[in-house]
Amino acid sequence: MNSNGRSVESGGGWRKRLPAPVRAAGRRVVPTRVNLASVRLCCERHVLARTRAPGRPRSRILCYHSIGTPQWGINDVSPERFRRHLQAALEAGYTFVPASEIASGSAPGRSLALTFDDGIASVAANAAPVLAELAIPWTLFVVTDWADGRHAFGDGTMLTWREIERLAERGAEIGSHSVTHPNFGAISAGQARDEIVRSRAVVGERLGVAPAAFAIPYGRSKDWTAAARAAAAAAGYTTVFAQSEERRPHGTVPRTFITRFDTERVFRAALGGAFDRWEEWA
Ligand SMILES: [Zn+2]
Repeated sequence: MNSNGRSVESGGGWRKRLPAPVRAAGRRVVPTRVNLASVRLCCERHVLARTRAPGRPRSRILCYHSIGTPQWGINDVSPERFRRHLQAALEAGYTFVPASEIASGSAPGRSLALTFDDGIASVAANAAPVLAELAIPWTLFVVTDWADGRHAFGDGTMLTWREIERLAERGAEIGSHSVTHPNFGAISAGQARDEIVRSRAVVGERLGVAPAAFAIPYGRSKDWTAAARAAAAAAGYTTVFAQSEERRPHGTVPRTFITRFDTERVFRAALGGAFDRWEEWA
């Protein structure tokens, strides 16, 4: 019985018609919207990797999030897998360059750039040492409220300003990823302007250099507006990064989104353009 006195079973008679092992499995694994979406995404990545013919290798900016923070879900890549991605790229003849060089068109033909969104502590712990060892430049896009400690992800999950300063001193480029990580497609023009202007000011105050680049939270084509585009230009950003290649907002620089399901084979397919027409959670 539940609290309003009705039998919990009364609305779920269909469950009784299922074979016992299925009912037991149903009790163990509740198919939430999140895990169904994640299963779908995993299938899509593997199927597209197998069926799309690889295109000519070209320069790309890769978009990662955390490297060893499982709570980041599909956006989290394990440290072991991340290292294998780097090795696969080097074996395929890619050169790593700063994202700004690819964005400006000044990078040589087969270049890759690494970017990490959100400002997650595992990037400093698990990616930065490998990147330093291999002398690979990289960019971190921080959410200023999260770096200030205004978040509910748990202690030690997000990078603090002190840690971000240390990464910047060691050569990481720091860009803005807004103040609170809103969906820009769902906020007012005024709120968008505030997120864009204030995050640039805060990063500038903390690090002594105002960021030239902004990465759109979620980064899909529907997550950015003409008003936000105008506000970013007026605020002084020279580059706005999306999180997809072809299906992205007007005036943005493409990035190739990398997920936790990207084995070496799927990763190589991503470099060959298998997901260029694909958009996360579309
Ligand atoms: Zn983000």
